Amino acid sequence: MMRKSGKILANLLQELKRTAKPGVTPRQLDTLAKKICEDNGAIPTFLGYHGFPATICASINNEVVHTIPGDKPLENGDLLSIDCGVTWSGLITDSAISFIVGDASNNPAAEKLIRVAQQALAAGIAEAVPGNSVGDIGNAIQTVVHNNGYHIIRELTGHGVGRKLHEEPMINNFGKRGTGPTLKPGMTIAIEPIIAVGTRKTRTLSDNWTIVTEDDSLAIQVEHTVLITPTGNEILTLSS
Ligand code: MG
Ligand code: MG
Repeated sequence: MMRKSGKILANLLQELKRTAKPGVTPRQLDTLAKKICEDNGAIPTFLGYHGFPATICASINNEVVHTIPGDKPLENGDLLSIDCGVTWSGLITDSAISFIVGDASNNPAAEKLIRVAQQALAAGIAEAVPGNSVGDIGNAIQTVVHNNGYHIIRELTGHGVGRKLHEEPMINNFGKRGTGPTLKPGMTIAIEPIIAVGTRKTRTLSDNWTIVTEDDSLAIQVEHTVLITPTGNEILTLSS
């Protein structure tokens, strides 16, 4: 069930990426995301979650996470992180992708941040194997991020995911090796490095959702839902 949920979500995110050209609004992306869910018999997990009014979060440039998709058109060179959750047959997957809108060569700082975030996510996933601890994942992510001089937004974390969007255990993006809960086959977790260029401090805008960096430097979120298997893991939110 979660494989199916994850496939719907991954393909949805890739469709949004193809659509997110300069001039397109985040609200248009949100409408498309909701339609893709409906076309697949899936439920948009975020819609109504703690009152969140949309299917996706669409966080741009200095926005870290949880931005409500609005009507300001995307601009060439914007760094866009799209986070979405899909419920299929009662089971949830959670994933986020990040990319540059339009011409990527416009924004080398964002390009580097994307590369490091993806490296950090891959390093975290590599540690998500049976017998390892949650701290091993966090430590691997932290090492990549800090080696590149970036900052971890410590209060935003990964988590277990399945019948609920946010389940135990919390997966910090930092930590000591060998600490925290032990990973076991059958566990499904969302691993999501959330990092910024200039600071680990954030503030929340007056809409009570959008979190931005305190210094307005670039921030990013990338995320996969991962199944721990007897021999390693399986990323459930890879597109076909
Ligand atoms: Mg997410
Ligand atoms: Mg998540």
